[in-house]
Amino acid sequence: MKTLLHICCAPCANQCVTSLREENIEVTGFWYNPNIHPFTEYRSRRNCLREYAKDVELPLIEQDQYALRPFVREVAEDIAHRCVKCYEMRLFQTAKTAKEQGFDSFTSSLFISPYQNHELMKAVAERAAETYGVEFLYRDFRPLFKAGQEHAREHCFYMQKYCGCVFSEEERYLKANKIIP
Ligand code: SF4
Repeated sequence: MKTLLHICCAPCANQCVTSLREENIEVTGFWYNPNIHPFTEYRSRRNCLREYAKDVELPLIEQDQYALRPFVREVAEDIAHRCVKCYEMRLFQTAKTAKEQGFDSFTSSLFISPYQNHELMKAVAERAAETYGVEFLYRDFRPLFKAGQEHAREHCFYMQKYCGCVFSEEERYLKANKIIP
């Protein structure tokens, strides 16, 4: 089976790639993350992924757009509940690309993160699969999260300090300064 793995970052992707390969699934990475800001952060995560992909001979499709304005326009109406829009942007594009480029299925490294809304992402991915007529390869990668982080530290990957969007960076600032409990 050929699957298109949406990748949010190399620290999250490495164990997803390893475990899918262990299942004899042919994996291609897909970089599309309009949610990552500012550009320096976007570039650090993208470049780290490029290096990792080269090291493990992972084919990588890049939709390389730094898209602050389209992203903010998408989520501005309801910033508190923005993650659903963020998942939709990324997972629908992944499903569309998987269909257009002849993959059997798609999934995402987001499913390794204990910090994401796993059930919401799953529901979005299922909708994307139905919309584009391509299989969503569901895997709960969360038990591998710790191993992925360890691998990333051992290999000196770039490690981000917030989820990705300007709003998550703001939340980190507010929490660090105890402005919100
Ligand atoms: S917090 Fe993370 S998942 Fe939610 S909108 Fe921001 S980047 Fe996307």
